Order: sequence, then C-alpha cells, then structure tokens
Amino acid sequence: MRQRLVMGNWKLNGTKETVVSLIKAFAAEANKYDKVEAAICAPAIFIGLVEENAKGSRLAWGSEDVDVNNQGAFTGENSPVQIKEFGCKYAIVGHSERRGYHNESSEYVAKKFKAAQAAGLKPVLCIGESLEEFEAGKTNEVVDAEIKAVIDENGIDAFKNAVIAYEPIWAIGTGKTATPEIAEGVHKHIREYLASFSKEVAEGVQILYGGSCNDKNASELFQQPDIDGGLIGGASLKADKFTKIIEAAAALAK
Ligand code: PEP
Repeated sequence: MRQRLVMGNWKLNGTKETVVSLIKAFAAEANKYDKVEAAICAPAIFIGLVEENAKGSRLAWGSEDVDVNNQGAFTGENSPVQIKEFGCKYAIVGHSERRGYHNESSEYVAKKFKAAQAAGLKPVLCIGESLEEFEAGKTNEVVDAEIKAVIDENGIDAFKNAVIAYEPIWAIGTGKTATPEIAEGVHKHIREYLASFSKEVAEGVQILYGGSCNDKNASELFQQPDIDGGLIGGASLKADKFTKIIEAAAALAK
C-alpha cells in the first residue's frame, strides 16, 4: 500500500517571517495524521530555518534541486551532502523550470538523481510534457524518455527509493489543471512503463501529480488509483490552502 504524500515546492519565494509562520502551520497539520506524509521543499537559503522550525514534527522537508557535486569549485551550487546535513529527506530533481531555464537535459537530471541518492536524499523526479507535446499526443513518449534516462544511469531499482512527480508543463502555475481523467491516464501509463522493467518497482513507487493542484481540486485528483498525492507550487505558499490539501489526502488515506 503506497502512502499518500503532499509536498510543497516554494520555488523562489518567501521571507524569514513567512517561512517560520508557514512551517509552524504545516507542522501542526502534519502532526494530526499518521497515514499521510506532508513535506516542504524550500529555497536552499531557508532550509536551515525550516529545519529549526519543523524538527520533531511529522513534517518532512527537502531541497528544490541539488548539484551533481558534493564539494569543490562550483560557485553557487547546492551540495547534496550539505543539504542532507540540514535534515532534508527529499530533493527535487528535473523540475521543468530547471530543465527549461537552465537547460538541464534528462541525462544531467539522472546524474543529479544519483548524487541525491548517494547523499541519502530521496529524489523527487519531475517529468512532464509541454503544451505542444500534449497537443501532438506525445505525452507518453516524453515521460518515458525522461524516466528511461534515469533508469539508464541508475538502474530500475533506484526507483525503490524515489518519488516521481508528473507535472504537465502547461498546467504549472497556469491555473489549468489536468482533469483527473487526463492525469490518471498518464499516471497509469507511467506505472505500466515502469512495470515493463520491474512490477515490484511500479507497484511501490509514489507518483505525485503537480500543476495547479489546489485545495479545491486535490481531493478529486487524489481519488484516482494511480495518483498518490501532489507536488504543490502556488498553493503551498498559503497556510489555509496547503493545510486543506493535506487534510484532503488524509481523508482518503486508509
Ligand atoms: C510546481 O511548480 O511544481 C507546481 C506544481 O506549481 P503550481 O502548483 O503553482 O502549478
């Protein structure tokens, strides 16, 4: 039985003040449930503050990205081992904003996945198609290739200790959520694709939906059999919205 997971991605947002107040609210909400996990991925500069305020609660936390290197002359990068030192459980890799604005290829993302796991972090692999690819019916082809690059670098069993987030790029920050039917169709396909390598991995891996998921549509999305939770951008910056999303996941957890 896969546990539901609701994960926030703050992106480049927040102040010391908002970090403290949001983490306090989310930790209090996370402490109410033992069958659902809540987590926040924060800008690297705030991870220490997240740790200070979430430590001892059921709220997990992570980074929004990691470098492929642990140390050395790589100015401005964030080392997986340094991130781990601040109590992170998760590291997002391959977010479409990193792939798009920083030209990160699937092969490079696969190396970040490896570096995160080697440091003891659980990678959250983001995959998803552009609007053009969606309209051309290429969604499955795109997500398969993004997953295959990680399998080629790390092997299928690496997904025993990872999370996948399906995030159609056309749905991120646009208010255009994929319908539960569209999202479930892709999630089911992802699981079938993984099963062609290992049924055990396909059954066990949590696959989150991301893309304008909010307190109004979360429950319907999370009711789909292959959607195990959400990766939430904008709505994770609002205490009332994100806590309602955690509540929606908890209400469905058995
Ligand atoms: C994201 O960036 O991972 C995301 C899902 O953003 P939003 O919820 O704002 O669409």
